[in-house]
Amino acid sequence: MHDLVIRNGKVVNLRKNTLEDIDIGIKKGKIVDLGKNISSGVKEIDAKGKIVSPGFIDIHMHEEKLYNTEYKNEYDISNKMLEMGVTTCVGGNCGNNREDLKVFVDHISENGSPVNYMMFIGHNFLRNKVGITDRYREANEEEIRQMNYLMNSYLEYGAIGVSFGLEYSPGVSSREIYGLLNNPNKDILLSAHYRTDGYGSYDAIREMIDISRHTGFPMEISHLGSCSAMGHMEKGLRIIEDAIRDGVDVSADIYPYDAFSTYIGSAVFDEGCFDRWDKSYDSILLTEGLYRGVRCNRDVFERIRREKPEMLVVAFVMNEEEVIEGMKSPFIYIGSDGVFNRGQGHPRGAGTFPRVLGKYSIREKKLLLIDALKKMTLGPAKRLGISQKGEIAVGKDGDLVIFDPENIIDNASFEDPNLSPSGIEYVIIDGKVAKDGNGIVNDRLGRIIRG
Ligand SMILES: [Zn+2]
Repeated sequence: MHDLVIRNGKVVNLRKNTLEDIDIGIKKGKIVDLGKNISSGVKEIDAKGKIVSPGFIDIHMHEEKLYNTEYKNEYDISNKMLEMGVTTCVGGNCGNNREDLKVFVDHISENGSPVNYMMFIGHNFLRNKVGITDRYREANEEEIRQMNYLMNSYLEYGAIGVSFGLEYSPGVSSREIYGLLNNPNKDILLSAHYRTDGYGSYDAIREMIDISRHTGFPMEISHLGSCSAMGHMEKGLRIIEDAIRDGVDVSADIYPYDAFSTYIGSAVFDEGCFDRWDKSYDSILLTEGLYRGVRCNRDVFERIRREKPEMLVVAFVMNEEEVIEGMKSPFIYIGSDGVFNRGQGHPRGAGTFPRVLGKYSIREKKLLLIDALKKMTLGPAKRLGISQKGEIAVGKDGDLVIFDPENIIDNASFEDPNLSPSGIEYVIIDGKVAKDGNGIVNDRLGRIIRG
């Protein structure tokens, strides 16, 4: 007898690019049986009319801030991930760790989490740790040596690689990057938030490719939409494509929105940004407190930037057609870049995966469903080296999502970024139901997956 059996669903087969009418048997957290007339389960789910997919893997998000004083020990973004059908996500991106990685890993190991986590150690986090407070200054030899030592200790603690946030620390030089990455104590994956966007994006993309070429480590370019979808996507994609043809191991991720979100105090908003995007102050939407929903003018923008640099804001500066072009590209995965501050932020944190499937694939037919699914399951699983996840096959982990193709859609909006999507019927982690049609039923099934 199986622990869990899912019957009558359309089961995603990513090797044959088909949907198959088979049943799934799960025992001790693993898929053990696939086919017709399989034996019964302690629990059975009827998935008639639904699609059964491997759980979604979010290769780029920003983890929980667990030790926020008001909301200590409450999950925020992790619950949103689960509600979207994500079973494994990758935090520590863009050079930034929202909690010390060791503290985060210990917390999840002790308490569990709504979703599985893999973590990068962030370069800017390390800069902070060795006392660099000036983002416009490069690290000196001693600081680089210290960061390298710390990097190795975090890798040992389970980090899967190093993330960079080059735009956030303009002072970072290639000498600093190569010094930091010298002799890591294990195979690592790199991810990088580019140095600049818009017309600066070509050189920024070349820089990230060069880092991979020179170090020999694979590179995941972060949220390419907010780098290039301001009139520069086509050429940006070509630069990446050429590098791949040259043998460089580079890929990228993208989220399905035409606006980005970050802290208003970030260097992203330094002098010249509006020229680079060819947009004005009113392209910036404030998201917190009394200013929630307010569009900027010059005065408001400059004052909030000075007085509340930690406020998350949304910048409507990208073109949807270019975002779609990026999504369709074979070397691009879907990553939410989701980040929430006390429930405030960008809807991508609660809508990305259902939006790609419901809006861009099923309704608008911009990309084939099977291709869209691959970009959120098998593709990122291979990129992350987690061969036990990302597809439905005997022996693989029992991480699944069951969704209704007629109803799946994102509901989160810039006005209300918290709204849960529709059509995600079940999310199963480790062979157990984490979420059903009524909402989250078990928010402690996730754990840390070490690199
Ligand atoms: Zn970023």
